[in-house]
Amino acid sequence: MHEALLSWAAERGRDLPWRGTRDPWAVLVSEAMLQQTQVARVVPRYRAFMKRFPTPAACAAAPVADVVRAWAGLGYNRRAVNLHGAAVVAVARHGGALPGDLDALLALPGVGPYTARAVLAFAFAADVGVLDVNGQRVLSRLIGRPVAQPDADALVPPSRGWAWNQAVLDVGATVCRPRPRCDGCPLSPHCAWLAGGLAEPDPWRRGPRQSTFAGSDRQGRGRLVDALRAGPVTRADLAATAGWPGERERAERVAQTLVADGLAVAGPDGDLELPR
Ligand code: SF4
Repeated sequence: MHEALLSWAAERGRDLPWRGTRDPWAVLVSEAMLQQTQVARVVPRYRAFMKRFPTPAACAAAPVADVVRAWAGLGYNRRAVNLHGAAVVAVARHGGALPGDLDALLALPGVGPYTARAVLAFAFAADVGVLDVNGQRVLSRLIGRPVAQPDADALVPPSRGWAWNQAVLDVGATVCRPRPRCDGCPLSPHCAWLAGGLAEPDPWRRGPRQSTFAGSDRQGRGRLVDALRAGPVTRADLAATAGWPGERERAERVAQTLVADGLAVAGPDGDLELPR
């Protein structure tokens, strides 16, 4: 099974810019961007971001506002604030480098179990399983039940953590889609769900669906941060800028969440700007 998947990936795996590096900072940046954002959208922004902030020190030395501006087009802007926070911790506690152990990675702002293991596998070549939504789908179907972290770790072939995890992600992104294309799948001879005739229920349990974006608070937050990248927004303009001209209270409540998340600072009169 290992050889089948690794050979398939060597021929069919995706060529992505962050796969050519083992730099932990570059891996962290790519993983932060890839959460909730499609690969095609991430590629040009990843290149631009790494050019601008090639090291944790370069990022930590910049104002948060510059990092938020560099995040334009990626959405979920809190990730930019967290990335800046991780860079600050790397400089303050780890000599400007990202740490190579799980607990220290988990202590960085915005780094959860998935991202920490991705940095370990993709930068430090550790034999740990990387379980994003694609990995969960592939491995759950492969073993015929919802995959847990110890299952994913046990499936990694020794010393092949980098290649195995990239290959699993590629299978999930290309053939083991929500609607699987088992004919072209290198794991098909070993797949428990396929052996059982793809019987329902699918062993991959979908997480809660993302609520609709249009008209949501998240859309208003995004509009406010987009405006803040260009300059301060006055309190009087908050509602219109958020896209809710008649909903001043809602706009002010959402503005407060931006302040609480470190994405904006409020002046005494309620005007907003990016943090310095
Ligand atoms: Fe997914 Fe089908 Fe491959 Fe199983 S055989 S891992 S269900 S694509």
